[in-house]
Amino acid sequence: MKVLIAEDDIVSRRVLESTLVKWGYEVVACADGSEAWQVLQGEDAPQLVVLDWMMPGMDGVQLCQEIRKRSEAPYVYILLLTAKSQREDIIVGLEAGADDYLTKPFDSHELKVRLRTGSRILDLQAELISARDSLRFQATHDLLTGLWNRAAILDILNRELARNRRSGSQLGVIMVDVDHFKIINDTYGHLAGDVVLREIARRMRVSMRSYDEIGRYGGEEFLVVAPGCTAPDTLKLAERLRNCLGGEAIALSGRTIQVAGSLGVASSREGQEADEDWLLRAADAALYLAKQRGRNRVELFCPTDLPSMSLPQDVPATPFSLNGPSR
Ligand code: GH3
Ligand code: MG
Ligand code: MG
Ligand code: MG
Repeated sequence: MKVLIAEDDIVSRRVLESTLVKWGYEVVACADGSEAWQVLQGEDAPQLVVLDWMMPGMDGVQLCQEIRKRSEAPYVYILLLTAKSQREDIIVGLEAGADDYLTKPFDSHELKVRLRTGSRILDLQAELISARDSLRFQATHDLLTGLWNRAAILDILNRELARNRRSGSQLGVIMVDVDHFKIINDTYGHLAGDVVLREIARRMRVSMRSYDEIGRYGGEEFLVVAPGCTAPDTLKLAERLRNCLGGEAIALSGRTIQVAGSLGVASSREGQEADEDWLLRAADAALYLAKQRGRNRVELFCPTDLPSMSLPQDVPATPFSLNGPSR
């Protein structure tokens, strides 16, 4: 473990450094509080620090306060070294944010065990953070494909819609559904179906821009959120997805499986507010049309094609379409 030592007295600093190195720590030694503060703001900074109280410039207590003001940075365990042994002094040090203290001249065995306590707490904290991150991942991702799950992609859609309302930019959504997926399951088995779904998800993920988002919306349905995309942009993206999804046949234990997908595109309308419900229903209606028109194709939501769909009254008569409705 990496330890930062801040001690202005050169002899004490050298003794501390060689002792800690002997105990197996990686040591970063600083001659005052300001230098230590610089190091702590750098990348991969030590999380275990031994601070002398009395130092020129920024002293140990001031440094404790600065460290505790940060909210984002990883937790730093602070052991304050002090010649002050009055109860009031110790309270001042702990109130400034120190986790522990040691009075000088200190006993080396005591320093050793107190550092071990610090390491143990930091290790525990790292375990908790990793468990929390893994839970967070599980709560927001689909286990099979590794894409966002339904709740997470809908959150993203709402976040982007809110951003749109502030900035007035556009937003595209694409609903993707694998064609005749049931036949793949029935022919090759459910496990093979899973492999195919995973590969389809991977292909789509790698052919999108980094700021487009994709989630598994249902069994073999995916939802793409494309921020800043107009209807023509979103149509182009959907075509790209269709091509990579149904491009090369997927190899699976000696066989190859050809897949294809149908895609429904909807776009928020310039100058008008589109809500989640409107966009999802519009993309779904376009997807339905793509299925009706023969599958393995992209359709843009167009209210005139779907007079039966009860959508809000302010839907524009004929939005943009790449090649007309019978593409
Ligand atoms: P269409 O072209 O009309 O979309 O036909 P389809 O066969 O894809 O549509 P349908 O909705 O009838 O079938 C979807 C199938 O997807 C049925 C379901 O068993 C399968 N499925 C859903 N989730 C999973 C999954 O996680 N793994 C596998 N292997 N299959 C799944
Ligand atoms: Mg000093
Ligand atoms: Mg489906
Ligand atoms: Mg399907």
